[in-house]
Amino acid sequence: MSADRFDAVIAGGGASGLSLAAHLAVAGWRNRSVLVVDDPVARPAAQCWGFWAAAPALLDAAVSHRYRRLGVHAAGADAVVALRTFEYQVVHRRDLRHVVAGLLRRCPAFTLAPGRVGDVRDGEREAEITVDGVAVRAGWVFDSVSASPPTGAADARLAFTGWEIECARPVFDPDVPTLFDFRVPQGDAARFVYVLPHSDRRALVEVTEFVPRHGRPTPPDGRAALLAGYISGVLDGSGYTVGRTESAVLPLRASPPPRSGRHVLRIGACGGIVKASTGYAYQRIHRDSAAIARSLARGGHPFDRPRPSRWYRFLDSVLLDVLDRDPHQIERTFARLFLGNPADRVLRFLDECSPPGEQLRLIATMPKAPYVRSVARRALRRW
Ligand SMILES: Cc1cc2nc3c(=O)[nH]c(=O)nc-3n(C[C@H](O)[C@H](O)[C@H](O)COP(=O)(O)OP(=O)(O)OC[C@H]3O[C@@H](n4cnc5c(N)ncnc54)[C@H](O)[C@@H]3O)c2cc1C
Repeated sequence: MSADRFDAVIAGGGASGLSLAAHLAVAGWRNRSVLVVDDPVARPAAQCWGFWAAAPALLDAAVSHRYRRLGVHAAGADAVVALRTFEYQVVHRRDLRHVVAGLLRRCPAFTLAPGRVGDVRDGEREAEITVDGVAVRAGWVFDSVSASPPTGAADARLAFTGWEIECARPVFDPDVPTLFDFRVPQGDAARFVYVLPHSDRRALVEVTEFVPRHGRPTPPDGRAALLAGYISGVLDGSGYTVGRTESAVLPLRASPPPRSGRHVLRIGACGGIVKASTGYAYQRIHRDSAAIARSLARGGHPFDRPRPSRWYRFLDSVLLDVLDRDPHQIERTFARLFLGNPADRVLRFLDECSPPGEQLRLIATMPKAPYVRSVARRALRRW
């Protein structure tokens, strides 16, 4: 890194940093100077992302697995649901980096460099960021590494522990990921297991818990014990070895804190992009990157983006309120949603792009009482 000023610096080369660099490169910024700086020592939590997609996208070359069916198990019911317009896809971090690095090779003024970001300072005319202790000036800083400003407790948390396992005998259907399986002890959280099969013997198996606002996530060793119990008890995967592991606690906020400064914009998880009612962010990150790149190309600044939908934020907050009162309603809700609707309808709803009639049909299948009570409580509070 020889220059001390760039048109833009992207702090962090994870999902959001790489995605934004790629979108800038194809949206008229390919001759501008852009630095993407990533600390190889700061170990990122997510090594692969699962998500659903209905249309071809810029970084599809990084997709390593595609599935057309999903397994669900909730409230005693077991089903494999078919996807029609959607595919469930998987991207590994190393593949995303490889594909984006290839794309950036065509942009001589883009630099992908190792380095540790320290301070990020917003200024009147530009921003300043320290990289390995050296000050770098930038027209724009896109920040995916700084902690969000404190804004009180999260509405809920998503705690998870996952193991890549290899079983001694075939245990998995390699064509069917399990989106959720609630056959784990529930306790004070809503807990399920997610299974992403790579073959009939290898899979990422992950225990996930939605923790209410005042609850405490089960400690990692407790989640590991739940996972071990699921693998031996439900999967009957005796004689397995554990490879890579992941463990994290994500704060969930229906109304994330503000993300824009004068010349600094937070992106990715730091920018509050994680969907509060699901914990998914990968596709939302790409949509956000595309919107930022469009805004820069059109108006010379990144602020002309669609506003997050107040309606869907409200729906997310209602779900988290129900979780707060009775975590076990989440299992019933998931069961009704996925067993009472075509899967594509549910995924469109979670993507926040269902037409109103479809939303009504979907909401009609959900358990009524806890949600009506939550909406009434909110209305009374406002009144
Ligand atoms: C374990 C886990 C699994 C997840 N799985 C999914 C999933 O399957 N599907 C989905 O949609 N969402 C998932 N998410 C949510 C979300 O998609 C991810 O958190 C996503 O990686 C967020 O992207 P990001 O760019 O904000 O952060 P990251 O992808 O973590 O990128 C941040 C980057 O910044 C680097 N960095 C950190 N500090 C510094 C520093 N000081 N200086 C320079 N570089 C630094 C890190 O090394 C990293 O490369 C998951 C989250 C976690 C924690």
